[in-house]
Amino acid sequence: MILKTGCSILLLTAVSTVWARVPEVKVLIGKSLAEVNVLGTDLKKTLHYNKSSQQFAGRKMIKFKCQAANLKRPELLASVSSPTGFISWDDSKFQGELELVKNPKTPNCDLINKVPMDSYIASLLSKEMNATWPIEALKAQAVAARTYAYQRINTDGFYHLESSEKDQVSGTFLDVTQRTLQASKDTQGEILMGPTGKITPAFFHSKCGGKTYRPDQVWGGMEDGYQQVECPFCHKTGMKPWKHELGKAKLTDMFDRVLSKYYSDKISNRRDIKLLKDSADRTELRFYSGTKLHVVKKSYLRNLFGRELLPSNNYVLDVKGGHIEFAGHGYGHGVGMCQLGALELAKRGYTYKDILAHYFPQHQLKKIY
Ligand SMILES: [Zn+2]
Repeated sequence: MILKTGCSILLLTAVSTVWARVPEVKVLIGKSLAEVNVLGTDLKKTLHYNKSSQQFAGRKMIKFKCQAANLKRPELLASVSSPTGFISWDDSKFQGELELVKNPKTPNCDLINKVPMDSYIASLLSKEMNATWPIEALKAQAVAARTYAYQRINTDGFYHLESSEKDQVSGTFLDVTQRTLQASKDTQGEILMGPTGKITPAFFHSKCGGKTYRPDQVWGGMEDGYQQVECPFCHKTGMKPWKHELGKAKLTDMFDRVLSKYYSDKISNRRDIKLLKDSADRTELRFYSGTKLHVVKKSYLRNLFGRELLPSNNYVLDVKGGHIEFAGHGYGHGVGMCQLGALELAKRGYTYKDILAHYFPQHQLKKIY
């Protein structure tokens, strides 16, 4: 294993924010990097593989060349911190520390940002919502995102969350605005708990298009306290009702792929496919291949065939002559809080507690730190 470091001087503005007793979140911000250059003031570099530490006075750039092909498992190689609380990487400024971990699949490193929870939330609000939205909508989003992150803190591994749509998209310190900071501070330590007192991930999405879904209706797993709720609030904004047509022959291939991927099954009679009547309140499609009845989740078609064809799971599939038609509403998976619905409720004067109570009616708001 070779881990080389070097130094050069660049500028960094030192700013400091104090957070008391706030848990830290480890966020994966860079994947499989051959080289990592970090910049900061009075940086402390720790190389974990040989247990050595070094402190650099003034503003410095530390360069890491990551070639650790002999390590097959992830391992913490190095960490960098600054007494200012800020470090820059890839022209972006991050609060907290940066950690380099061996990527298990390549000779390269993953980069992880260890950041105070509420600082993480303040940067995320600009990415997952919009910093200019009403403060009560931002506060509802802050609680939902904090709940999602907090639930992941106790998981094993070198990081808790990815900064991607797989988890939540968090920004950098440059995405923190006075309003997102306010929304994070005003809800500090607040999370949602399910009716049995369990912390469950509080999911959210862009636009439900009329109603939300429970996790089991979309992904299959049951989460504590989720309920499907009506949302007549989001229809005026965001993506308009959408419609897509495909040749009828495509349907057989689509069903065949869904059956083999999610149900370990296949179509027994490709020439004799009959779709049973679908409707907006159904989350599953039913069809016969020959005499065999199949039932598949609508969301699995979206997973396999993409968001361009199926922007949401809220759609109706119909066979019309020689083609099939997907007609739907909304954008996103549809589970939990509808962000455009939250926007409309905030505009109407609802507080963040009212908004959360609408989308998570069985959950309780708890302040845990
Ligand atoms: Zn909605």
